[in-house]
Amino acid sequence: MHCSVCGKISKDNLGEGFKQKVKITLKPLGNIVDELMEELKDRVSGIFHCPTEIKAGFSDLSQTYNPQRKQYFSSKLLASLKKSEGDERVVGIADVDLYVPRLNFVFGEADVVSGIAIVSLCRLRQEYYGSAPDEALFLARATKEIVHELGHTFGLGHCSNNKCVMHFSNSLADTDLKEANFCNNCRPKIMPCPII
Ligand SMILES: [Zn+2]
Ligand SMILES: [Zn+2]
Repeated sequence: MHCSVCGKISKDNLGEGFKQKVKITLKPLGNIVDELMEELKDRVSGIFHCPTEIKAGFSDLSQTYNPQRKQYFSSKLLASLKKSEGDERVVGIADVDLYVPRLNFVFGEADVVSGIAIVSLCRLRQEYYGSAPDEALFLARATKEIVHELGHTFGLGHCSNNKCVMHFSNSLADTDLKEANFCNNCRPKIMPCPII
Protein backbone atom coordinates (compact mmCIF):
# COMPACT_ATOMS: atom_id res chain seq x y z
CA MET A 1 0.00 0.00 0.00
CA HIS A 2 1.43 3.36 -1.03
CA CYS A 3 0.81 6.50 0.93
CA SER A 4 -0.73 9.09 -1.35
CA VAL A 5 1.31 11.84 0.29
CA CYS A 6 4.82 10.45 0.70
CA GLY A 7 4.74 7.29 -1.42
CA LYS A 8 5.92 5.09 1.43
CA ILE A 9 4.78 1.51 1.54
CA SER A 10 3.17 0.12 4.65
CA LYS A 11 2.51 -3.53 5.32
CA ASP A 12 -0.42 -2.91 7.62
CA ASN A 13 -3.29 -0.49 7.10
CA LEU A 14 -3.86 1.54 10.21
CA GLY A 15 -1.61 -0.92 12.04
CA GLU A 16 0.70 -0.48 14.98
CA GLY A 17 2.85 2.04 13.15
CA PHE A 18 -0.17 4.24 12.61
CA LYS A 19 -1.21 3.97 16.25
CA GLN A 20 2.23 4.92 17.47
CA LYS A 21 3.02 7.71 15.07
CA VAL A 22 -0.11 9.69 14.44
CA LYS A 23 -1.97 11.54 17.14
CA ILE A 24 -5.16 13.52 16.58
CA THR A 25 -5.83 16.62 18.64
CA LEU A 26 -9.25 18.27 18.86
CA LYS A 27 -9.39 21.90 19.98
CA PRO A 28 -12.55 23.83 20.83
CA LEU A 29 -12.70 27.27 19.19
CA GLY A 30 -15.13 29.48 21.07
CA ASN A 31 -17.55 27.96 23.53
CA ILE A 32 -18.01 24.21 23.13
CA VAL A 33 -19.15 22.22 26.16
CA ASP A 34 -16.72 19.61 27.48
CA GLU A 35 -19.23 16.75 27.18
CA LEU A 36 -19.62 17.38 23.45
CA MET A 37 -15.85 17.50 22.92
CA GLU A 38 -15.47 14.20 24.80
CA GLU A 39 -18.20 12.53 22.76
CA LEU A 40 -16.63 13.69 19.48
CA LYS A 41 -13.20 12.58 20.65
CA ASP A 42 -14.48 9.06 21.37
CA ARG A 43 -16.17 8.83 17.98
CA VAL A 44 -13.16 10.10 16.02
CA SER A 45 -10.83 7.81 17.91
CA GLY A 46 -13.15 4.90 17.06
CA ILE A 47 -12.79 5.60 13.34
CA PHE A 48 -9.02 6.19 13.17
CA HIS A 49 -7.94 3.79 15.96
CA CYS A 50 -5.18 6.12 17.03
CA PRO A 51 -4.54 8.32 20.07
CA THR A 52 -6.98 11.22 20.19
CA GLU A 53 -6.88 14.02 22.72
CA ILE A 54 -8.57 17.30 23.51
CA LYS A 55 -6.48 20.40 24.09
CA ALA A 56 -7.44 23.99 24.78
CA GLY A 57 -8.08 26.04 21.66
CA PHE A 58 -8.95 29.70 21.89
CA SER A 59 -12.17 31.47 22.70
CA ASP A 60 -11.98 34.81 20.92
CA LEU A 61 -13.07 34.39 17.29
CA SER A 62 -13.82 38.09 16.75
CA GLN A 63 -10.81 38.64 14.45
CA THR A 64 -12.43 36.38 11.87
CA TYR A 65 -15.97 37.82 12.04
CA ASN A 66 -17.36 39.51 8.94
CA PRO A 67 -20.19 41.85 10.01
CA GLN A 68 -21.50 42.22 6.43
CA ARG A 69 -21.98 38.47 6.07
CA LYS A 70 -22.65 37.82 9.79
CA GLN A 71 -20.34 34.82 9.42
CA TYR A 72 -16.77 33.90 10.31
CA PHE A 73 -14.05 33.68 7.66
CA SER A 74 -13.05 30.02 7.63
CA SER A 75 -9.60 30.38 6.04
CA LYS A 76 -8.59 33.11 8.50
CA LEU A 77 -9.75 31.03 11.44
CA LEU A 78 -7.86 28.03 10.08
CA ALA A 79 -4.69 30.11 9.67
CA SER A 80 -4.92 31.34 13.25
CA LEU A 81 -5.08 27.79 14.63
CA LYS A 82 -1.51 26.74 15.33
CA LYS A 83 0.02 23.48 16.44
CA SER A 84 1.35 23.33 19.96
CA GLU A 85 4.03 21.02 21.34
CA GLY A 86 3.35 17.40 20.35
CA ASP A 87 0.44 18.12 18.00
CA GLU A 88 0.37 16.09 14.78
CA ARG A 89 -3.09 16.39 13.23
CA VAL A 90 -5.28 19.14 14.65
CA VAL A 91 -8.99 19.82 14.18
CA GLY A 92 -10.49 23.04 15.53
CA ILE A 93 -14.19 22.74 16.32
CA ALA A 94 -16.24 25.92 16.14
CA ASP A 95 -19.91 26.52 16.82
CA VAL A 96 -20.17 29.51 14.47
CA ASP A 97 -21.15 29.75 10.80
CA LEU A 98 -18.09 29.65 8.51
CA TYR A 99 -17.66 30.96 4.97
CA VAL A 100 -15.07 31.38 2.26
CA PRO A 101 -15.42 34.25 -0.22
CA ARG A 102 -17.00 32.42 -3.16
CA LEU A 103 -19.34 30.16 -1.18
CA ASN A 104 -22.39 30.81 0.98
CA PHE A 105 -20.93 28.69 3.75
CA VAL A 106 -18.56 25.80 4.42
CA PHE A 107 -18.92 22.85 6.80
CA GLY A 108 -15.16 22.80 7.27
CA GLU A 109 -11.76 23.39 5.72
CA ALA A 110 -8.42 21.60 5.84
CA ASP A 111 -4.82 22.67 5.31
CA VAL A 112 -3.06 19.60 3.95
CA VAL A 113 0.41 21.11 4.32
CA SER A 114 0.11 21.95 8.01
CA GLY A 115 -2.15 19.02 8.94
CA ILE A 116 -4.66 21.39 10.54
CA ALA A 117 -8.40 21.55 9.85
CA ILE A 118 -11.51 23.25 11.21
CA VAL A 119 -15.14 22.17 11.31
CA SER A 120 -18.29 24.19 11.97
CA LEU A 121 -21.09 22.66 14.03
CA CYS A 122 -23.49 25.49 13.23
CA ARG A 123 -25.39 24.03 10.27
CA LEU A 124 -25.33 20.45 11.53
CA ARG A 125 -28.19 20.91 14.00
CA GLN A 126 -31.80 20.40 12.97
CA GLU A 127 -32.69 23.56 14.95
CA TYR A 128 -30.74 25.62 12.42
CA TYR A 129 -33.42 24.70 9.85
CA GLY A 130 -36.34 25.20 12.21
CA SER A 131 -36.80 21.50 12.99
CA ALA A 132 -36.89 19.74 16.36
CA PRO A 133 -33.49 18.94 17.90
CA ASP A 134 -32.02 15.52 17.08
CA GLU A 135 -28.90 14.95 19.13
CA ALA A 136 -28.06 11.58 17.55
CA LEU A 137 -28.25 13.04 14.05
CA PHE A 138 -26.21 16.08 15.10
CA LEU A 139 -23.45 13.92 16.58
CA ALA A 140 -23.38 11.67 13.52
CA ARG A 141 -23.05 14.69 11.21
CA ALA A 142 -20.35 16.30 13.36
CA THR A 143 -18.35 13.08 13.39
CA LYS A 144 -18.57 12.75 9.61
CA GLU A 145 -17.42 16.33 9.05
CA ILE A 146 -14.47 15.95 11.43
CA VAL A 147 -13.40 12.62 9.92
CA HIS A 148 -13.75 14.09 6.41
CA GLU A 149 -11.50 17.07 7.16
CA LEU A 150 -9.01 14.82 8.93
CA GLY A 151 -9.04 12.61 5.84
CA HIS A 152 -7.86 15.62 3.83
CA THR A 153 -5.01 16.19 6.31
CA PHE A 154 -3.99 12.59 5.67
CA GLY A 155 -3.75 13.39 1.97
CA LEU A 156 -7.08 12.03 0.79
CA GLY A 157 -9.09 13.83 -1.88
CA HIS A 158 -12.81 13.54 -2.52
CA CYS A 159 -14.24 10.11 -3.27
CA SER A 160 -16.94 9.30 -5.83
CA ASN A 161 -18.49 6.67 -3.52
CA ASN A 162 -21.47 8.46 -1.94
CA LYS A 163 -21.29 6.22 1.15
CA CYS A 164 -17.64 7.10 1.82
CA VAL A 165 -16.86 9.78 4.38
CA MET A 166 -14.56 11.42 1.80
CA HIS A 167 -17.51 12.02 -0.56
CA PHE A 168 -18.04 15.76 -1.00
CA SER A 169 -21.08 17.09 0.86
CA ASN A 170 -22.87 19.75 -1.10
CA SER A 171 -25.69 19.65 1.40
CA LEU A 172 -26.67 17.88 4.60
CA ALA A 173 -28.56 15.32 2.51
CA ASP A 174 -25.15 14.23 1.17
CA THR A 175 -23.71 14.19 4.69
CA ASP A 176 -26.63 12.11 6.00
CA LEU A 177 -26.32 9.62 3.15
CA LYS A 178 -22.65 8.91 3.67
CA GLU A 179 -21.14 6.91 6.51
CA ALA A 180 -18.62 8.11 9.08
CA ASN A 181 -16.01 5.69 7.81
CA PHE A 182 -13.68 5.38 4.81
CA CYS A 183 -14.49 3.15 1.86
CA ASN A 184 -12.21 0.29 0.89
CA ASN A 185 -10.45 2.47 -1.66
CA CYS A 186 -9.76 5.37 0.69
CA ARG A 187 -8.86 3.57 3.92
CA PRO A 188 -5.62 1.99 2.63
CA LYS A 189 -4.41 5.44 1.56
CA ILE A 190 -4.38 6.72 5.15
CA MET A 191 -0.82 6.32 6.20
CA PRO A 192 1.54 7.68 8.81
CA CYS A 193 3.86 9.94 6.91
CA PRO A 194 5.61 13.15 7.84
CA ILE A 195 3.94 16.40 6.86
CA ILE A 196 6.61 18.68 5.49
ZN1 LIG B 1 -13.61 17.73 1.39
ZN1 LIG C 1 -13.69 6.63 -0.48
